[in-house]
Amino acid sequence: MVGEVPLYAGRAAAPDSDDPEAISAWLSSMPTIGKRELRRGFPRALVRKSCDLKAEMARGAVEIIATSGTTENRLQVLWEWSWWDPQEREAMRYNTRVAEAMPPGAPFREAVLTTPVCGGATCHVGNLSRLERTVDGMLFLNQVADPTHWSPAELDRMLAEWNELAPDGVEADPAYLAALCRYATQTATRMSAPRFVTLTYELATRAHKRAIARAIDAPLYSLYGSTETGVLFMECTEGRLHHNARHSHLELLDAKGGLGRVVVTTLGRTWMPLCRYELGDVVRPTSGPCRCGARDEGYQLERVEGRLADCLQSVDRLATPAMLDDAIDGADPRIEGWQLQREPDGAFTLGVVGETDGAQAAEAAAGLLEARVTPRIEAAILPEGSGKYRMVRP
Ligand SMILES: [Zn+2]
Repeated sequence: MVGEVPLYAGRAAAPDSDDPEAISAWLSSMPTIGKRELRRGFPRALVRKSCDLKAEMARGAVEIIATSGTTENRLQVLWEWSWWDPQEREAMRYNTRVAEAMPPGAPFREAVLTTPVCGGATCHVGNLSRLERTVDGMLFLNQVADPTHWSPAELDRMLAEWNELAPDGVEADPAYLAALCRYATQTATRMSAPRFVTLTYELATRAHKRAIARAIDAPLYSLYGSTETGVLFMECTEGRLHHNARHSHLELLDAKGGLGRVVVTTLGRTWMPLCRYELGDVVRPTSGPCRCGARDEGYQLERVEGRLADCLQSVDRLATPAMLDDAIDGADPRIEGWQLQREPDGAFTLGVVGETDGAQAAEAAAGLLEARVTPRIEAAILPEGSGKYRMVRP
């Protein structure tokens, strides 16, 4: 792959042997790349010399889509269903409950709730029919970018469509699903229970999970990956995340305190193969056999900690978004949403949404960060232009 893709020109060729140690040594001798390199090289430097991008796009085999990362992180990606779907399904089936609910070849009703899909020939912003928002049997519920702008009519429509479809599985951004579920709880609207919900696109907070669990009687599982890398980890019935090992080689670079930074080399991709790509996220690895009985291969995680850009360095350790959420929610579970903002003087403001003044939560965050944190009541935390939420604003 290295010799075929211009971005990797000049790097040492892969070793002849399949010996994992030889391959690891070869990989770790190469520089890592990040979103900047992908953006700069897109698309020509990322296409194998043997592939004709124009012809394959005209044939509809591959398309260019933009990821919904934060504005400065937004990426264009060469994307094809023939790659995405099989690797996603394979990852999901690491979870035995999901595997039972989704037998290969059997009909499966799926709903998706996240930022409206926009890419290639598809755009789900505006007033579209349910049929227009159904792609390959998947119903995309949302057509308004920011959940704070969901009107009661829009929320009622989504709940009605949810119940009409009665999905077997739901894939959701946790912030978006929590907003829909809070409305269902407030209006005492029953939501049909899927057999499972996968939470993805961004980190699920404890408050998200609580709001979802109040309205939906289904297990919630984290699915972790990105548009450019595919699915990297799937949470199992025992709460661990298992590596989707057939589709990527992973390195977890030491981030101290038992944490690792995720570096991905994709396996078997025709379009946009990635070699030592640093995703910009921090995770907490774990090891040993898992009670779920999944095959013991590749990495396992205790959890995903959040984006490196949202981590804060306190005196002697990294405070990750998940750690901040533990402290803030642990101190005050009335909080529905929060966002930490660093002020020019080095102190922090903790914006909180919920029936609380946020004082206890701010004190807990201050303890973790060893810094001054002042609470501020907010009507809502607003998403970034991309539709995702930042937990920490530097
Ligand atoms: Zn497991």
